[in-house]
Order: sequence, then structure tokens, then C-alpha cells
Amino acid sequence: MTAIIGISTSTITIKRPEEVTSFQANYTPRDFSQAIERAGGLPFLLPICQEDLAKDLVRHIDGLVLTGGHDLSPHLYKQEPRQSIGEILPDRDQFEMALLSQAIKQGKPVLGICRGLQLINVYYGGTLYQDLSENEQIVLQHNQRTPGKHATHQILIEANTRLEQILEGQTMVNSFHHQAINQLGQGLQVSARSNDQVIEAIEAESDNILAVQWHPELSIESNPASIKLFEDLVNRAHAYGH
Ligand code: MN
Repeated sequence: MTAIIGISTSTITIKRPEEVTSFQANYTPRDFSQAIERAGGLPFLLPICQEDLAKDLVRHIDGLVLTGGHDLSPHLYKQEPRQSIGEILPDRDQFEMALLSQAIKQGKPVLGICRGLQLINVYYGGTLYQDLSENEQIVLQHNQRTPGKHATHQILIEANTRLEQILEGQTMVNSFHHQAINQLGQGLQVSARSNDQVIEAIEAESDNILAVQWHPELSIESNPASIKLFEDLVNRAHAYGH
């Protein structure tokens, strides 16, 4: 059986010039489903629903990708929103927290990407920088202005981590984030950092979770290591789901 990989989605307002009304569409960048497809999994999009549907939805998948997108509500880590925070979608926060909670309870592996990494950290009780300007030691450009196929900054991978086994020495990644982990959540391990000490990857071995701050789905063609993160999720899904 091919592993079914659930992919969290967002919503976007669509207004066609020829129509008077607008509507809300469920969407995710196609790169995510293509990466899962390429990695040998069956992509399965999960629209934002009521939290109580998360349990049954997660029953139908073998692994979960928590995707990038909006900033998390800072109330989830007990802060008020500062001026620098971006757009927030509370419905998405709540539903993805419920998906993550169910994935952990049901023993389904998780890959977090960008916002997904931040959400996992907050789930485990950690905090975020609402904007990287809050820490003046963070000096590198983490919101690159070049396409995602180009890796722009280095990462240093921690020894004896799952990430080290998967990436085998990848040292450059792309970067599209203005937030990052501040305090690490309890039970999580840092698996990579940038040269200015931003946490770029985390893992929770006991809960079968791996997450990266960069966007491997945007560099499948240009960086052979990128697909390995998705292949690893599909492999973990096979191990747990079948
Ligand atoms: Mn970065």
C-alpha cells in the first residue's frame, strides 16, 4: 500500500474580474503535493475544518505535512501581537494544532515546514520571535529575495540527529521566514542552526516528528537532498501506518 500523506492547507480569497462576488478557496502551494508524489506517497489535502474532525481525518492518513504560510497567533505562546507581526488565521492555527495532537496520539509521523516547525514548537510549549528584528544577533537575510530553488544561507547540522542521517552533510538552504523559534519547546531537540544561531530544524524522536525552517519543496529540482526529507516522511509513514 502506498502511504497516504495528509497536507495541511490554507484559505485564500479569490475574486475574478468578471464576477461581482468573491469566494474563499482551500489551497496549498502545488510544490507540496508534487514533492509527496515524487517521494512515492499519495498526497491528500486537508482543508481547514472544525477541530473535532481532526481525529477522524488523521485516521485516514499515514503521515502529516504541516505546511508554511501565515504567522501563528502570538496568543498561543502568551504574547500580544506586536506591530511587526504578519497576517494571522486563527481557524487554521486551531485546526493544525488539533491535527498535530491527533498525529502524535495516533502514532503518525509528522514533517513540519516553516510555519509547521513554528507550530510544532508552540505546541510543545515554546515561543517564537514575532519578528527576527527582536534579536539583534540575528543578522543574516532569512527572507530571501531570490527564488526558492536557490539556497542562500548555511546550516550547521547537529551530530547524532535524525536530520544528520537524512541529509548527509547538506549545508545550504533557502530561507523565507521573518519569524523563528525563540524558546525551544519541552521535549524537542535542535537539529540544525544557521550561522547567526537561528534554529533551522528540530525533531522529537519519541513523537516521530521532524521539522525544518526552510522550504525543501521549492528546491526539489535544484537540490538533490530536498526530496530526502519527503522520502523520509513516506518511509516513516510506511513503518507506522502499515
Ligand atoms: Mn533561515
